[in-house]
Amino acid sequence: MGAEIFSVGTELLLGQIVDTNAAYLGRQLARLGIDCFHQTTVGDNAERLAQSLRTALLRSQLIITTGGLGPTEDDVTAAGVAQAFGLELALHEPSAEAIRRLLAARNFPFIPAHLKQAYLPVGAQALPNPVGTAPGFMVENAGCVVISLPGPPPEMQPMFEQSVAPYLHKLSGGGTIHSRVLRFMGIGESLIEDKLKDLIAAQSNPTIAPLASHGLVRIRLTAKAADEAEAQDLIAPVEAEIRRRLAEFIIGVDDEDIEVTVGRLLREKKLTLAVAESCTGGLIGHRLTNISGASDYFLAGLVGYSNEAKKALLGVAEKTLADRGAVSREVALEMARGARKSAGADIGLADTGIAGPTGGSEAKPVGLVYGAIATASQEYCEEFRFRGERDLIKWQASGAALNLLRRALEGYLPEIAI
Ligand code: ATP
Repeated sequence: MGAEIFSVGTELLLGQIVDTNAAYLGRQLARLGIDCFHQTTVGDNAERLAQSLRTALLRSQLIITTGGLGPTEDDVTAAGVAQAFGLELALHEPSAEAIRRLLAARNFPFIPAHLKQAYLPVGAQALPNPVGTAPGFMVENAGCVVISLPGPPPEMQPMFEQSVAPYLHKLSGGGTIHSRVLRFMGIGESLIEDKLKDLIAAQSNPTIAPLASHGLVRIRLTAKAADEAEAQDLIAPVEAEIRRRLAEFIIGVDDEDIEVTVGRLLREKKLTLAVAESCTGGLIGHRLTNISGASDYFLAGLVGYSNEAKKALLGVAEKTLADRGAVSREVALEMARGARKSAGADIGLADTGIAGPTGGSEAKPVGLVYGAIATASQEYCEEFRFRGERDLIKWQASGAALNLLRRALEGYLPEIAI
């Protein structure tokens, strides 16, 4: 069975909102093992919607629409679906009653326009909306099914989960597509592909798909199987082989960001951290404190942006700044030492660099960043070179510093055993 997702709304075409419904439904269909070959976006126009649906019905057996089910004139999905199937719209009494009840319960006055939402294509099955007034519906015709859901994600998603997913599960024979994502830092996409080229060439089930963005490479392993447990069994040996070859660069799985992994490692090792930031301006502290419970290990974040602040807050020596410059290995190390000491933490982590677009030179170009770690007895610094706009350089620098700490905590840096 081939599926197609229809997103209805002129605001989508104008780029005023981003189509998160299609992304959500794409993931859900994959999870249910249903192939989705097309996504279509149509404005709030019944004729054009009907025309696009007729075309889609020639190639797809399942169409799921979102949006355009509300009470206003520009909500035309029910009319468009009815036209595509050559059906009339008729008042669906139980849905009308549900709308009256919901409005009364919320103390909203009932106006006849609300009933527009209860006009469904004749023969359609209504899908209850536990959150809002607009019911969804499902129409079957000549082996094809159109399922229409409201636009707001907080209404659409529970309806999909409660009414649509169980129906589709039966329809698809109960299969599933399951993915697991391995996340890598400190290694480029092409080098990863090179290290995995035999696995990629031999891939079938699971498939292996690389995806790179902003200093992060993701490898998505996707298996088709009867159920999730079987899919996990198919993925496990391939994941184990990838880990055997590239363990040092793996920073997490699925949605796990580097700050999550660093937080987990610090907690496991019962270690505390203080951060001294220059070019990232507090971004490392921000990322670490996005994780609930960070106070277990994160003691302080100090932004020493000017030379004066580096001296006053972090104890960086005047002479080091004069001899080496603010963007230097030596200053990064002194910042890490200073942060650790002033906060009384086990570890100090620091960065200093040139985020651009101004301030670079031949010797110290834009994108040059030093990351440093200091413990009571050891210290280590690494140089990074990033490219891109200012915010991207800051983002990559924050990730690289956190990744440096992860590598130290996982024992990948012989120079610094924590
Ligand atoms: P309502 O009863 O709220 O009018 P509706 O089914 O008519 O619901 P729309 O009017 O098309 O839905 O959209 C209402 C809101 O839902 C949009 O303003 C937007 O916030 C959200 N929405 C609609 N479609 C999408 C989409 N594809 N992705 C993300 N959000 C969406």
